[in-house]
Amino acid sequence: MADATLLDLSPDALEARLAALGHPAYRARQIAVAVFRQLVSSYDEITTLPAELRHELAARLPFTPCEPMDSVQTADGATRKTLYRLQDGETIETVVMEYPDRFTVCVSSQVGCAVACPFCASGRGGWVRDLTPGEIVSQVLHAARAAAAVGRRLTNVVYMGMGEPLANYESVLASLRIENDPRALGLGARSFTLSTAGDAPGILRLAAEPLQVNLAVSLHAGDDALRSALIPLNRRYPLDELLRACHSYVEITHRRVTFEIALIDGMNDDRRCAAAVAARLRGLLCHVNLIPWNPIPQLEWRRSRAAAVEAYEKTLSDAGIPTTVRDSRGVEIEAGCGQLRARPATR
Ligand code: SAH
Repeated sequence: MADATLLDLSPDALEARLAALGHPAYRARQIAVAVFRQLVSSYDEITTLPAELRHELAARLPFTPCEPMDSVQTADGATRKTLYRLQDGETIETVVMEYPDRFTVCVSSQVGCAVACPFCASGRGGWVRDLTPGEIVSQVLHAARAAAAVGRRLTNVVYMGMGEPLANYESVLASLRIENDPRALGLGARSFTLSTAGDAPGILRLAAEPLQVNLAVSLHAGDDALRSALIPLNRRYPLDELLRACHSYVEITHRRVTFEIALIDGMNDDRRCAAAVAARLRGLLCHVNLIPWNPIPQLEWRRSRAAAVEAYEKTLSDAGIPTTVRDSRGVEIEAGCGQLRARPATR
């Protein structure tokens, strides 16, 4: 486990940490303003602090646990993937996407992933470890700085990078609270979307949180045999149990659940598959997001043909289920859904 860094601390925890070192509370507020408003990237840049305190903090409380190592962007510059090195040498990837009306960062929540969906690159090497809150907040701050550099503001944070966020519940929630805290980053609850492979107990736990974020659930199939083949976690939480949790989520939060369906040619994209999903979702306040599957190395599968995606969408829409097709970004730089992984060379 990495040592705590500045970005692991909530505003209250930072105040307590500084108090323990004999510093007044207003120092914590000065630091928060510099880090989350001015978006400085080192203690050296916090000019409101005396030099002595900057040195003391740099020695006792590292600023960030993530060092950007490398980044690639699409030809239009609108999508950029960054590789970070963590304190223990592990690596993660984060994707920033610029749209006319929003500026989104897709963050990783674990190094690797234990769910091991066969169609996703992130689970290839198995689970390595959970990220700390600071490692998640760092990815978001880095994106906020990238936005500021082009005169934009970060508007959305999606927990859809490497890892299963509900399997790292405490750190993910701690990071969300820091990103949401008006004394820290101050992003509204509506800015956040968390995507899960279907951790039913985690969904119920999330429903009870005071901080209510958007929930996305990876569905991919409406029958248990096919879904278990695509998402091994389905053996633990089969569709009945998962959808019960989703119904409870809607009852408790009054918020619509998004279901993600990656469409793979000849695998889960025919009319029968679409009809099975439609039957499962009947009566649930939801929205479906179809994701034409993005290729990953060493897998001979193909994304669904455009006509199959269209027919799938029509089956769901005809059943009264609002459905959209995700504009997958950055596939050419392996920054699309399911393409993120730590670089094997750095393992
Ligand atoms: N672990 C979380 C977040 C994963 S990424 C989850 O499973 O929900 C977000 C979405 O991308 C998920 O729905 C995931 O199933 C999907 N996905 C994974 N690999 C993909 C690929 N190669 N092409 C398209 N979508 C993919």
